[in-house]
This record gives sequence, C-alpha cells and structure tokens, in this order.
Amino acid sequence: DEAKSPLKKLDTGEGHSQKVASHYNTLQECGLAARSQSRIFYMRNFNNWLKSVLIGEILDKVRRGPEQLCVLDLGCGKGGDLLKWRKGRIDRLVCADIAAVSIEQCQQRYSDMRRKCRPNERIFSAEFVVADCTKELLSEKLKGSEISFDICSCQFVYHYSFETREQAEMMLRNACERLRPGGYFIGTTPDAFELVKRLEASESNSFGNEVFKVTFQKKEDYPLFGCQYDFSLEGVVNVPEFLVYFPLFEEMAKKYNMRLVFKKTFREFFEEKIQNEQHKFLMKKMQALEQYPAEERNKLASDCPEEYEHVKRK
Ligand code: SAM
Repeated sequence: DEAKSPLKKLDTGEGHSQKVASHYNTLQECGLAARSQSRIFYMRNFNNWLKSVLIGEILDKVRRGPEQLCVLDLGCGKGGDLLKWRKGRIDRLVCADIAAVSIEQCQQRYSDMRRKCRPNERIFSAEFVVADCTKELLSEKLKGSEISFDICSCQFVYHYSFETREQAEMMLRNACERLRPGGYFIGTTPDAFELVKRLEASESNSFGNEVFKVTFQKKEDYPLFGCQYDFSLEGVVNVPEFLVYFPLFEEMAKKYNMRLVFKKTFREFFEEKIQNEQHKFLMKKMQALEQYPAEERNKLASDCPEEYEHVKRK
C-alpha cells in the first residue's frame, strides 16, 4: 500500500531550516469549527480558492488522454491540497516537506480520504517524503527512480529557499529536474516588490496591522539571497522568510529549460478568474470572500498586501 510507505529520514541541516521545520511541526491541527472562528478564515479560504483554480487550470493543460498524471507537491504541509488532486483525478502524488509531523498528518489525511471515498472511485497513489528540499536531492529519496512529473506544485513554500543561492538552486532543481517536457512548475509566493514598497513607505522596519506583521532587519539593503524578514499572522505563522527576486528566479529556472508562462499578483489573478461563472460559484461555495463594511474594506485594502486582503476582522 503506497500510503503506508515508510517516512524518510529527516536531515535538518544548518541555517533557518531547523527553525522552519520545528515551527510547522508544532503548529496545532485545529478542527474546521475552530478554524472558522479564526480571523484569517476567509483569507485561508481565498488562498485555497486561488490554488484550486490554478491547479484545475494547469491539470487541464497537462492532461494527455489516458496517460497517467503524476504530481510533486513540494512543501505539501499537512496536505491542504490533497482534495484538489483528488478532484483533478491525478494518478500519482509525491508529497515532500521538511516538517515530519506535517508529513505524518498529510499521510493520515490521505489514508482517511482513501477509506472514505466512493465505492468505485479510484484515488491516486501517494508517496510521502520528509526532506529539506533546499538541501537534499529528492530524486535520490523517491521509490521509482524513473518517475517524471507533469506538474510540480510549490504553494507558499519557495521563499524559504532564498536564504542562500545553493538552497534556492537545490529547491529549483527538485522542482524542475523530474518534470517531463511540457510539464509545469506552479506556485505561490509573496511578492518581493510589494513587500519592499511597503517597507520603504513605513517609518520603521516593519509594517502590518492587528492581523499580520512583517519585520525586516534593515531597510535599503536587499541582497539577492538571504534578504530575511519575519512574518507573523495572528500567531499562525512566525518564521523567517526570504525575499524572492523574481527576475533572478526566472533566470535561474532557464537552466532547467523552463520558460515563464505567467506571473500574476493575487489581485490580478482574482480579477481575471472571477469573471468565470464556475470560479465565481466555487468562491461562494468555499466561503472565500467575506463581505465586510465598505469602510473597513477600504482600510484593509490600503493596509494589507494583496494576499491578506480578504482577512475577516471581528
Ligand atoms: N503547501 C502547503 C499549503 O499550501 O497548504 C503548505 C504551505 S506552508 C505555508 C509552508 C510549508 O513549507 C510548510 O509545510 C513547511 O514545512 C514547508 N517548508 C519550508 N521549508 C522547507 C524546506 N526547506 N523543504 C521542504 N519543505 C519546506
């Protein structure tokens, strides 16, 4: 049973990786009820909506008749996207993450999903790997050495790799080297230009509101790698992250024969996709857009980076 594959050994290494791993390992898995109480409920739902639309569209592009669809979920966390892969009817999924506890929860979710699925439904097979994907070569840890992926999905993860050039290169290599020609590397990551713009507009080294805070160590000096900021979101995330200078990332990806297909801010993506009735319906179904009073909405819109705009305030 693929679901019961043994977990691979964790190599924690040096630098901030350990901090990131233990942060995600100690995050409590709260139930849906508790989560819906959270002020970030709508923001999380919005992020999920965005990922659902993105994943759905890319799956449509890579589907080639009856051929098997294989996906690498790089930095899969607790498996928040498992249902999206199920809906997308993929055949095989490799889930990798640095946080062993998250991988265990992801594996558990997958097993539950299999157990509860419809009698005739065929659910994808899955493999789970604990690895620091900025330092370890994933292909050496995978079962099938011949495996190639149609998609690598890296959602809210790639920015952890920009601590050093070596780490950014290793994660990129993990993302791209097993992609088949015509395959896609998709992802979401904070907008470095927006972060710097807001920092420069702030009187201190930080900016945010009562929901989120971004703190840089200093201003006016933005190295290409290791440009660290601390991000906290109502105690949900509080770990060091790094700016991803996108033009450099795009250049680095050329080494793997990758070409940029599209890059959009969350706002641009939202404004485009919401025109589609199906996506609009999904947004309602996922409770991804909270209507709050215009005054508050305008304040939020001027306060928050685009990604945090759909935060519900009590
Ligand atoms: N992709 C998931 C999602 O969208 O729900 C989880 C996103 S969470 C914000 C970031 C994830 O990146 C965490 O699960 C964390 O453990 C993982 N991560 C951070 N650094 C990593 C690394 N060096 N190698 C593998 N995973 C890493």
